Amino acid sequence: MARQVMHIKKSRSWWDGSVTTLCGLKILDPERIWFPSLSGNVSCPACVAASENGARS
Ligand SMILES: [Zn+2]
Repeated sequence: MARQVMHIKKSRSWWDGSVTTLCGLKILDPERIWFPSLSGNVSCPACVAASENGARS
């Protein structure tokens, strides 16, 4: 299987099980995304940038 871009999970909906990523995607199949700690996978640049910027709250 080709490399997958690994998005960073921001939040998870308990309503439908979907995951919102730091780059703003909503993914309905959360088994396909996880934290980019698995070797050999490319992290989503937008997610990484958002993570490095930090969450201003
Ligand atoms: Zn992303």
